[in-house]
Amino acid sequence: MSRHRVVLLPGDGIGPEVTEAARRVVEASGPAIDWVPMEIGIIAFEKYGDALPPHVVDEIRACGVALKGPTTTPIGKGHVSANVRLRKELLLYANVRPVKTVPGLETPYGHTDLVVVRENTESLYAGLENEVAPGVVTSIKVITETASRRIAHFAFEYALRWGRHRVTAVHKANIMKKADGLFLRCAQEESVAYQERVRFDDVLVDALTMKLVTNPSQFDVLLLENLYGDIVSDLAAGLIGGLGLAPGANYGPDCAVFEAIHGSAPDIAGKGIANPIAVILSAAMMCHHLGDTESYVRIRKSVRTITRSHPELLTPDLKGKGTTRSLADAIVKEVERRRREPVHD
Ligand code: NAD
Repeated sequence: MSRHRVVLLPGDGIGPEVTEAARRVVEASGPAIDWVPMEIGIIAFEKYGDALPPHVVDEIRACGVALKGPTTTPIGKGHVSANVRLRKELLLYANVRPVKTVPGLETPYGHTDLVVVRENTESLYAGLENEVAPGVVTSIKVITETASRRIAHFAFEYALRWGRHRVTAVHKANIMKKADGLFLRCAQEESVAYQERVRFDDVLVDALTMKLVTNPSQFDVLLLENLYGDIVSDLAAGLIGGLGLAPGANYGPDCAVFEAIHGSAPDIAGKGIANPIAVILSAAMMCHHLGDTESYVRIRKSVRTITRSHPELLTPDLKGKGTTRSLADAIVKEVERRRREPVHD
């Protein structure tokens, strides 16, 4: 079996707790991984004066893959987000966030199985803000044809690869006629090459949020620019039971960084009750990326077994009595049991 070097970025807040859980689950499942632990975010800022030190970026480039916990970004002041910088510096232009109903967890929204494909490098995340006069601030939304075509192409290719049937571009081109108009036009033009295989339509972002909370099952792949993608993916996670369940991955031409949608959750950090499932499912996506599809299937099935059959083991966000550690223990045990059996999905 070939060995992989993977950079492990525990982050801060609940990050170290949940990434440790994910590391244990991956190790139980089998891929041979040499982990390279490194620091980013507040911890790196305090140590090196830089929330994303160049040696970390170099190491991820060298390994090609990282598993990442969340990092805290100061609000309204302080250092630029290490997450945003990481995505830009490694050209991780595609953020993929599958949101799927978890067996055993009742929600009022019915069955959900959609994928948020978020452009990761521009929009209002360009960080171009100016105080043009006292009390007047401008924040520039950057939308380029290159990035819009690239992410639209990615969304259609993703749909084909994963047997999805429809891509819906999300925008506000009735108001931002130029910026969102360009994003929409690129998606429309890219869709032409796929029209026999993948359906294409579009929706205004405000209408989308209403439609999602009314009937999420009507959507398949959602294609969004950066800020809308960020907001809509948190909303979508809420439809299936919360941020503790929703995984994610950032892909670029040379590297991939796997991380959950959720942040560092300072309100529960250090209490041992963070839900590790989102990062565990992100780690399953990482196994798939590394070519270990058996581990991908095994980890996902193990999580489903626990949510369906052992609600008492879940963490308090899912109304269980478990802890991060005890839930991870149960998933590790289930992964080990399944490892002794052949894999079918
Ligand atoms: P958050 O996602 O950290 O938390 C929102 C709510 O969801 C909180 O009540 C939290 O307790 C709960 N929650 C989140 N993850 C959970 C889990 N695994 N298990 C149980 N409950 C969970 O969002 P926030 O509070 O708005 O942001 C906190 C910090 O995280 C901010 O500094 C923000 O910048 C940062 N952040 C980082 C990332 C990242 O590193 N990729 C992403 C989002 C936010």
